[in-house]
Amino acid sequence: MSRHIILVPLLLAFLFASLPSLQAQLPPEKKDPLSPAQSAAGKAGCSTTEASSCAEAAAKILPVVMGSSPLEENLRRLTDEIGGRVTGSPEMAKAVEWGVGAFRAAGVDVHTEKYTLPVTWSEGKTRVSGLAIPRSVPPDFEGTNFFSMNPTMILRAVSEAWGPPTPEKGIVGKVVDVGYGSEAEFASLGSIWGAILLVHSDVGTTWADLFNEYLRPPDIIARAIKGGASAILWMGARERLLLYRHTNSLNGKIDRIPQVIVAREDAIHLARLVATGQTLRAGISMPNKIGGPLEQQNVVGEIRGYGKPDEVVILGAHLDSWELGTGALDNGCNAALVIEAARAIKATGLLPRRTIRFVLFSGEEQGTIGSFEYVKAHRAELDKIRAMITYDSGIGRVTGYSLGGRRDIEAGVRDVLKPLESWGANNHTYDASFGTDNFDFMLEGVPTLVANQEEANYLPNYHAASDTLDKVDMRELKLHTVLAALTAWGIADRAEPLGKRLSRAELDVLVKESGLDQQLKLLGYWDAWQSGARGRKP
Ligand SMILES: [Zn+2]
Repeated sequence: MSRHIILVPLLLAFLFASLPSLQAQLPPEKKDPLSPAQSAAGKAGCSTTEASSCAEAAAKILPVVMGSSPLEENLRRLTDEIGGRVTGSPEMAKAVEWGVGAFRAAGVDVHTEKYTLPVTWSEGKTRVSGLAIPRSVPPDFEGTNFFSMNPTMILRAVSEAWGPPTPEKGIVGKVVDVGYGSEAEFASLGSIWGAILLVHSDVGTTWADLFNEYLRPPDIIARAIKGGASAILWMGARERLLLYRHTNSLNGKIDRIPQVIVAREDAIHLARLVATGQTLRAGISMPNKIGGPLEQQNVVGEIRGYGKPDEVVILGAHLDSWELGTGALDNGCNAALVIEAARAIKATGLLPRRTIRFVLFSGEEQGTIGSFEYVKAHRAELDKIRAMITYDSGIGRVTGYSLGGRRDIEAGVRDVLKPLESWGANNHTYDASFGTDNFDFMLEGVPTLVANQEEANYLPNYHAASDTLDKVDMRELKLHTVLAALTAWGIADRAEPLGKRLSRAELDVLVKESGLDQQLKLLGYWDAWQSGARGRKP
């Protein structure tokens, strides 16, 4: 299905046909690993005036990645054997061991870095039922609990992640359909005190839809709490009864009101019953288990630079996932990509001018906690982190990078990817947004690159039971690995830094001009940004 299928053999042919003279100039490999002479870079970098090092690196990385490799087996073990890995769970600890072992097997130095996860969370036996009460019978909910209900329907549902448990007897309340939950819709409802709110959603098919899944809830939750509602039922945004895990608590704390994601068809059924005018009550029993605080880890592989070892380029991806599926598209495939990129660079025998760190973050799904902790722990060296590159959008074709509001770094990125120009992955965008592990690096003024990818099969399986290994197109993943490795290599090896670290004043302009300010406000990060608790201090 991918246009790369044609492009890659052509590219390989092109590279090998056109590079023998360049390769002949390379110094022999496998001498002193710290000797600059070992690097293809030597004196050349990856910029317009010195483009050869990137071309040479691309020609060497490509066959290592595209040939037989441990990539697929690594990903199989992570997804099929360890499975879904919620930060704070035993599976997450196994995934950390997996990452350490895979870097070691690739011959890459590796260590872990600890931080404290404030709260752990796991779902108990979530049960949601509905009871239609004929219009002739006056509704009387007094003294009713979930277990004494005689429901007329059982809804397929899961708890919101990091949602609070319900009381022992559950919650029972009248179902109030709030439509899409706008201010006007809430205003037209009258009292919602004690009610269980049903919120509609559309099926998610685009990145914009997905973004809205995060941007809509905060206001709706605030209105629900203000009106005294007892719980929220979110209509599923995936079709065919597919359940998925979502969190609306993006600060690692337990959410303020019980929330359930109800299978789309069941939620629509409920809405139709409410629309008939009969009274509908719902019961929710959700014995979620809360624990912690608990020590967690990020996994950090490293290839040390020969020329400027204290300057660092980070290639990262989150290792944690939700657990209804096995976290293959989100984000196991890209965790495996990061390890494979490290293996490929190592296997070329080339050394970059700067240090490349390969970081597998945990805590991403709880609000990019692991990468935030990494940034806090490395604050003293942020001036020397030259770029943070991340992949977190499954296996849809890469079209380029989102540069986090930074036009000044585009030319440098284009230079680095020039050897793979025919792949169509050198078209970059300047948007700055919340959503993955580059977030805190970006707010600290570090240049960040987030792979822009086509949706492919990401949205229908997002955070869902169906996010499993069979969804991963291995060939596409290998191509992305080449892109990621070359990007990290090129930025690490070019003579000049890719871009400077922005000052707070420059960041204030960027945040405003990119519209990131609106996101920070909607998602509840604005005060932390203003006070300097998150991002570069004023
Ligand atoms: Zn992700």
